[in-house]
Parts: sequence; C-alpha cells; structure tokens
Amino acid sequence: MSWESTVTYYQTINEIVRQELGGLHSAKILLYSVDFSEIEACQAEDDWEKSADILSSAAINLEKSGADFIVICTNTMHKVVPQIQSRVGVPIIHIAEATADELKQHNITKVALLGTKYTMVQDFYKDKLKKAGITVLIPDEQGIETVNNIIYNELCLGITSEKSKAKLLSIIDRIAKQGAHGVILGCTEIGMLIKPQDTELPVFDTTHIHALKAAKLSIEE
Ligand code: GLU
Repeated sequence: MSWESTVTYYQTINEIVRQELGGLHSAKILLYSVDFSEIEACQAEDDWEKSADILSSAAINLEKSGADFIVICTNTMHKVVPQIQSRVGVPIIHIAEATADELKQHNITKVALLGTKYTMVQDFYKDKLKKAGITVLIPDEQGIETVNNIIYNELCLGITSEKSKAKLLSIIDRIAKQGAHGVILGCTEIGMLIKPQDTELPVFDTTHIHALKAAKLSIEE
C-alpha cells in the first residue's frame, strides 16, 4: 500500500532471490493487493478497526493459500498488526522491528523518522524503535504536514517532483542538525524520491530493509 511501493517490494524480493540463488530463480510470492482508497478512507475516518478487518481477511486468505509468513507492505498499517496477528497463525514480519535490527547493526542510536503523520506522531511505530534503545526524532508540525502531503498527494499517485525532493531533503537536514545519525524512510514510497546518495546522513529505506528480510526468509531452509 500504495501499489506504487508494492512494485518496489515485488522487484526487490525477486532481485535478491535471483542474486542469492542464481540462474532463473525467482521468489514464490502470494500477492494480495488491496484497494488503497478503501484503506486511506479508514485512516482518514480514524476507523482503524475496519482497516484491521480488511487486512485480516487478506491475511487469512494468504495463510489458507499456503503462505509461510506475511509482510504488510506499508509502515502505517503496522498500527493494526496486533489485530491481524491475533487472527492468523503465521508470523507477520514487522517492518519497524526489521528496521530497528538494521539500525543496531550500524550502531545508530539516534535517528530521524520520516513517514505519514500517523507513523511519525503516534506511538505504535516509534515504540518498536525505542524498545530497541533508539531515540527517534521527527520533523516539526509544519514538516510533518509537508511530508504527509507529499506521500498522499504525490508519491502514492506515482508523482515524483524535484521540488518535493528538495523539501524532504531540507527537512532531513534540519533533523540532522538536532543530532540524528541516520534517517529512516519510514514510508514505503519515500524511496521513490530520496536515494542514499542524496544526503550525507545514512539512509535506512524501510521498503528495502523489509523486502530484503522477506527475500532472505523465503530462501532459508
Ligand atoms: N505506504 C505508506 C507507508 O509506508 C503510506 C501509505 C499507507 O498509509 O499505507 O506508511
């Protein structure tokens, strides 16, 4: 969610599997693609239980179809992971936990977080990082609004603009000055705009981290 970043997940997982296994190998993936407009409406109406029901029904279908584990291809909807996990037996690979592991491997203890306003402001995501001993810095109120608008009004619609890229980079710069040692692209579409070479701060792209974890798990014996 949105499908713009689902494309990145699909491609990344397949590329890693090919890289690891060689030849014509590709990933065995069951892809349950939802109508993101329905999910976004739940978010806007603060009806997280309804979104949990929609995603749980998808997860149950995936489990019945033989999935060994599930990845939910968005940071924001990890808010309802507890509800979904309670309805399926297979594990859900948490995007924030995978990201915390990656940060720890790089000895990063203070990090900037960019994502939707839900991810940046609410606790469901930041708590996973805090639990891993990581201090999380978020943009100021205006910055939160800017990042959120770029995500929903542009990136989720496939629109990438230099102007928005510059805005995100200046927000990252401001948080870097507060002592962040890295930046989490905590929305699966931000990587469409920001690449590691765009900033001096180490970039932790959750789409890549999550897809890498899924690919590695899928080929584990
Ligand atoms: N894909 C985005 C995320 O990682 C935002 C869209 C959504 O609300 O799922 O949070």
